[in-house]
Amino acid sequence: MSEKDHIADALLSWFDQHGRKDLPWQTDRTPYRVWVSEIMLQQTQVSTVIPFYERFMAQFPTVEDLAHAAEDTVLHLWTGLGYYARARNLHRCAKQVCELYKGVFPNDLAGLEALPGIGRSTAGAILSLAMDARATILDGNVKRVLARYHAVEGWPGQRAVSDALWSFAEQHTPQERLADYTQAIMDLGATCCTRSRPGCELCPLERDCKARALDRQSDFPGRKPRKQSPLRQRWLAVVTRAPGEVLLKKRPNSGIWGGLWAPPEFEEPAAATAWIVDTLSVPEDACRVGEPFHHAFTHFKLEAYPVRAHCTANRPETIGVECDANNLQWFALHPPPSVGLPAPIVRLLAKLGAENPPRSN
Ligand code: SF4
Repeated sequence: MSEKDHIADALLSWFDQHGRKDLPWQTDRTPYRVWVSEIMLQQTQVSTVIPFYERFMAQFPTVEDLAHAAEDTVLHLWTGLGYYARARNLHRCAKQVCELYKGVFPNDLAGLEALPGIGRSTAGAILSLAMDARATILDGNVKRVLARYHAVEGWPGQRAVSDALWSFAEQHTPQERLADYTQAIMDLGATCCTRSRPGCELCPLERDCKARALDRQSDFPGRKPRKQSPLRQRWLAVVTRAPGEVLLKKRPNSGIWGGLWAPPEFEEPAAATAWIVDTLSVPEDACRVGEPFHHAFTHFKLEAYPVRAHCTANRPETIGVECDANNLQWFALHPPPSVGLPAPIVRLLAKLGAENPPRSN
């Protein structure tokens, strides 16, 4: 018996005994129902998805119902599942299926993959699970099973690793019982070959699994290489004035700290000082650079230096109580402003507040 037959047969026998057969999307298995379940299951566990899926299907029993729904209604039913681009793509995809295909999903990989939000693995799942067609999937669970079974080194986000896994996945896909085989290998990854503490002693693939033989299950699949985050240095014009006020600027909605309030930010210390001198008539020698604070973002680390100044002269006429044309506004430090503030700025304002205690009457 070939290795391919051994894996498919072992998985199908295991599925007959242990596989899940009563999930809501396993009854009345249409391309529409399978597609919605596959999109919901991306990045979300089965137990979380089930009530969302049932509510969604009750509201939108057919692809036409979904296509004709208002986007707000679709997003509302998605609330709590996260990754809202999935819901928007789902809605767009339903419209295209109705407009281009009269509500019938294409029955080939290329046609499915051309639709919004449907990648190679989701297309394979729709074909195999709903149409019992010979198609291959490679979702997170299947990647884990195959990376361990074949001891495929490296992170699956790398092209060469992904190609190797797809090649193994295709090689093992049987000629018949496609829906059961697809469900079986997904279930094995979800319930037996789990991320931590896999149940190898109960696994139908134990005999030939390389990771098991090497006792290296936790090494597969390889982890995403950690990149050193670049350091970004910035200078913040931190200006106070009597009685206990600080000048903040509302950030544009896009970008870091979008829509939040923070001191004006500059890429050079000289630019921060020049701005304070020009805008607020504070003498240059009254500006001083303080100790930096640090904040980690996903893609970089921020090292921010406050350039401190205090307006002692008349209050600048150019900046009133209301937010000016440059989105600048003075805020009292006591109590702290109840506007959107990034966490490091909350801490900075607390420090300024401690340095400028409220006046007692
Ligand atoms: S033997 Fe263990 S590591 Fe290998 S596929 Fe089965 S559960 Fe996963």
